Amino acid sequence: SAGSVKGKTFTIATDTTFAPFEYRDAKGNMTGIDMDLIQSIAKSQGFKVNIKSVGFDAAVQAVQSKQADGVIAGMSITDERKKAFDFSDPYFASGIQMAIKKTDTSIKSYADLKGKTVVAKTGTESLTFAKSIASKYGFSVKALDKADTMYSEVNTGNAAAVFDDYPVLAYGIKQGNGLKVVTAKEAGASYGFAVLKGSNAALLAAFNTGLEKMKSDGSYHKLLVKYLGENA
Ligand code: GLN
Repeated sequence: SAGSVKGKTFTIATDTTFAPFEYRDAKGNMTGIDMDLIQSIAKSQGFKVNIKSVGFDAAVQAVQSKQADGVIAGMSITDERKKAFDFSDPYFASGIQMAIKKTDTSIKSYADLKGKTVVAKTGTESLTFAKSIASKYGFSVKALDKADTMYSEVNTGNAAAVFDDYPVLAYGIKQGNGLKVVTAKEAGASYGFAVLKGSNAALLAAFNTGLEKMKSDGSYHKLLVKYLGENA
């Protein structure tokens, strides 16, 4: 049996900034879709969470080294990761996209990246994707840990482009981060909450129960609308 999570506190690792999924509000509190989701599920299933905002790769590693019980960080459910993690039911369908500086008129396709450097976040699906097409298009790839560094590398011209998840790029562009997209989005996996493979089955089951409840009573849709607007 999965056992009970009631009254327990779980350490949940997350990214630093991956808006609108996780970021700090004006008061410095962690907020966003993932944060509201885990807090709502914790409340409905009777457990507590201790959020550790450490960065994406660090969050994934924290679970692998058992310093955290779970990770919620817009983490894509990939076959490769399934070897090391157990994932919840998917909660958000995502995908990868390229973004360039808003004022850049020289890049219209991946072919225009020839001889240039692109950035992507350490340990992500976007980094894997960028690397997979790098030699074909003749660009080099630099991995960075944080979103703000990636975006500033593009804004300052040190990098020609950033590869990141499309809902995050869209949100940032809408907020005026100085970037734009010029290419279509690439397929990416859906997001899931993850625990170490074979561990924390009760927490995973509670997450799925809470998620299902939120999906069926409309509160999950409401949560998406809160951060993504009516088209969510
Ligand atoms: N969805 C991407 C991945 O899991 C990126 C996650 C993130 O940057 N927080 O690889």
